[in-house]
Amino acid sequence: QAGPSPIPRLSRNAAIQRLLSTLAVLEQREGKLNMSSLAAVSAAQKLGGTIHGFVAGSNVKAVAEEAAKVEGLEKVIYVDNGAYDKGLPENYAPLLIENIKKGGYTHVFAGHSAFGKNLMPRVAALMDVQQISDITAIEGEDTFVRPIYAGNAILTVQSSDNPKIVTVRGTAFASGAAEGGSASVEEGVDPKAECPTEWVSEDLQKSDRPDLATAERVVSGGRGLKSKEEFDRLMPPLADALNAAIGASRAAVDSGFADNSLQVGQTGKNVAPQLYLCAGISGAIQHLAGMKDSKVIACINKDGDAPIFQVADVGLVGDLFEKVPELTEKLKSA
Ligand code: FAD
Repeated sequence: QAGPSPIPRLSRNAAIQRLLSTLAVLEQREGKLNMSSLAAVSAAQKLGGTIHGFVAGSNVKAVAEEAAKVEGLEKVIYVDNGAYDKGLPENYAPLLIENIKKGGYTHVFAGHSAFGKNLMPRVAALMDVQQISDITAIEGEDTFVRPIYAGNAILTVQSSDNPKIVTVRGTAFASGAAEGGSASVEEGVDPKAECPTEWVSEDLQKSDRPDLATAERVVSGGRGLKSKEEFDRLMPPLADALNAAIGASRAAVDSGFADNSLQVGQTGKNVAPQLYLCAGISGAIQHLAGMKDSKVIACINKDGDAPIFQVADVGLVGDLFEKVPELTEKLKSA
């Protein structure tokens, strides 16, 4: 049994608390638990009640055993079948639904990641309930808070659906302890649904840098970098000097300066690092939607009227081609 949770639960009637049960969908890749998917467990802890984890793929028993140590989980259900390795929603959704029905869960939480965004609407549609997307806070067992219009308005949604199919914003629910729990591990049901789609290939950006979604520090480049050559010349040394992940604006991604997986913003990743340092980014609302929860925002921009200065804690008005190498050198010698 896990020790007392560090995440404060909502105060409510103990009888209601006992009726709540959440299935937290965990992600894995090549037999490794994706730590950012533990935000689903943190959100479930906030809600209270019983929490089970769910993981599927080839040889996932070891992943399930790793997840069993996550604080807050009582049980981890796993389905060992290579057909679920790529998280294709066409066969993963029926799989999840069978296991939701078997466990009689009141809530199902997954991260608002590419996987969760792909899977959960299909699960909700097949169960004839409304999907609740990208929540940033939980106000009660049926009431959730989520940003809309790229974070310019905050919506409070109340749902009478059962179960509630929810994706959670990772940056709003910090992952709890990956150690200290002792959940049981149990095999789930596998409906072996046919999959009309086929996984052909993937082209993944390999990097030794910290993961963008969970990094403590992020350095981000925008259209002001002018070219891929300049992006590659200036951003990696700055990232190395700070042990930071690299991000980019959509304009930089669309112009081919940076890989699509590095995009920060409304249609990219949400990040909330201790430090977000950006250069040559104007601060469009769609970009701010993905980074404005960062603890410290620093920017370099030659236009002192750029909107990024309105959200920045520290701003430097200047030419990035001069200032970025200067800053990198200073950080290296610090
Ligand atoms: P720009 O707006 O062109 O800004 C470049 C900045 O660089 C300027 O402020 C300029 O002063 C500065 N600069 C130029 N040269 C230098 C120099 N030498 N030294 C210093 N500074 C310099 N955008 C995202 O980023 N992420 C998203 O997820 C996203 N999703 C979107 C979704 C939708 C539906 C839509 C409509 C748009 C979305 N956008 C997104 C695009 C967004 O509106 C902006 O177009 C984009 O963020 C602009 O990127 P940028 O700041 O790099 O470029």
